[in-house]
Amino acid sequence: MLGRTARRRREALSEITDKVWDVVVVGGGNAALCAAIEAAEAGCRVIILEGAPKTYRGGNSRHTRNFRCMHQGPLSVLTDSYEEDEYFNDLLLVTKGNTDEDLARLAIRTSESCLPWMEAHGVRFQPSLSGTLSLGRTNAFFLGGGKALVNAYYNTAADLGVEVVYEAQVKHVEIEGGRFQAVAVEIAGAAPCRVEGRTIVLASGGFQGDIDWLARAWGPAARNFLIRGTPYNRGVVLKDMLDQGADTVGDPTQCHAVAIDGRAPKFDGGIVTRLDCVPFSVVVNKDGERFYDEGEDVWPKRYAIWGRLVAAQPDQVAYSIIDAKSSTLFMPSVFPAVQSDTLEGLAEQMGLPAAKVRETVDAFNAACREGDFHPTELDGLATDGVEPRKTNWARPITEPPFYGYSLRPGVTFTYLGLKVDATARVTMEGQKLKNVWAAGEIMAGSILGEGYLAGFGMTIGTVFGRIAGQEAAKGATRGVNSNAA
Ligand SMILES: Cc1cc2nc3c(=O)[nH]c(=O)nc-3n(C[C@H](O)[C@H](O)[C@H](O)COP(=O)(O)OP(=O)(O)OC[C@H]3O[C@@H](n4cnc5c(N)ncnc54)[C@H](O)[C@@H]3O)c2cc1C
Repeated sequence: MLGRTARRRREALSEITDKVWDVVVVGGGNAALCAAIEAAEAGCRVIILEGAPKTYRGGNSRHTRNFRCMHQGPLSVLTDSYEEDEYFNDLLLVTKGNTDEDLARLAIRTSESCLPWMEAHGVRFQPSLSGTLSLGRTNAFFLGGGKALVNAYYNTAADLGVEVVYEAQVKHVEIEGGRFQAVAVEIAGAAPCRVEGRTIVLASGGFQGDIDWLARAWGPAARNFLIRGTPYNRGVVLKDMLDQGADTVGDPTQCHAVAIDGRAPKFDGGIVTRLDCVPFSVVVNKDGERFYDEGEDVWPKRYAIWGRLVAAQPDQVAYSIIDAKSSTLFMPSVFPAVQSDTLEGLAEQMGLPAAKVRETVDAFNAACREGDFHPTELDGLATDGVEPRKTNWARPITEPPFYGYSLRPGVTFTYLGLKVDATARVTMEGQKLKNVWAAGEIMAGSILGEGYLAGFGMTIGTVFGRIAGQEAAKGATRGVNSNAA
């Protein structure tokens, strides 16, 4: 005899597996939710299969703070204007031209109508605050952060009757003759099952949570990387699609990676583990040697390259050293700095060769010159006669107490992804799949060949999530037997 709980679970499961859903959405972050809401509003029966437990729902999206938005005049909390060409040029600069112009411009143009759509679906914005004022024109900040955004969308989806299944790991997407049929899913506490659908939207993120995959792409060094976001984005669906011949974009070694506090947890440390002290410091590797210009540019333009710089150092670790006069010039870190009244004492506490650190800092100090120091702008206060040069904010590290932070590469998301067209449709061997769309990190490589523009991840997810949801709804309405491309 089946117990009552087992019977209830079996009944609940059969509710999911006994029908053919109009739209199956894989993933439970921003892109998935935007797709699900659009499809449900078009009258479709939608199911979201979210691999994470409910408490972890929302993937990397729950860590976000803002999205980058084009606007031709003041819009909600955004000041002034941020036009298409300026936005696109900003993207060209960071990607070094490694982008798809048509898709990028589509994302940029559509972002303007996304903001009011987001507000209409429960997202609240706030003006940028101290420390992020420079983004007040370009990036709209979510009141309550990404967690509040995700919760608002889940509430909206529930109101629209979207079925959400948590701890539902999609393992395989069944595609026959260019057409999606069903997904193979493992739902916690239940036997593996199939969920059938007329259309599918893949929004299950990148593969950064699979450290073995990262190590295959990067080499063993990747085992020392920290993952800033969810451990659930392991690229299972991406790999399954690639194995079946789906067309890909992007390079497996390209990702968004920043330097974060070396004491951050392996996964999910989030935004608070980022360190902003580098421009005011001397950064050494574990041998006590400097390796890059710490003052190359203002931190928002440089923090993303430091992930890769640290990744290239022995044991993928580096150490940022400042003195008392710089300790209040940057956003405080969630982990307190290591502190000592002597440089040697600091080096010892951080496990660094004290004599070598002393030699490096002395050489740096001797190369600093007189001049005006301006912490918020490029001040040209550079070193002379030391390699590498520090080209701005170079002040001798002399005033105790001395502070130190360890740095490690923190991966945000990977860029290898599914190739899509302007309707977010996935292609296989050059042919459009009839009823498969993708949105968010899983296709972001279509636009981000390399580099990153702050706030653009949520723009890509929102724009293509909405498009994918609308297109999937049209596909479901046309019927599963339609061959319309
Ligand atoms: C710390 C941090 C801060 C960030 N800040 C910003 C910011 O301020 N602005 C910005 O634009 N971007 C930011 N980003 C990037 C941004 O989070 C992503 O670009 C965006 O959230 C991607 O949305 P998504 O829906 O594609 O992926 P996610 O939100 O990660 O959602 C993917 C979902 O898929 C689920 N999933 C994975 N595999 C499976 C499977 N096999 N079966 C079922 N479900 C599965 C996961 O559980 C997850 O819910 C930040 C990222 C991090 C880590």
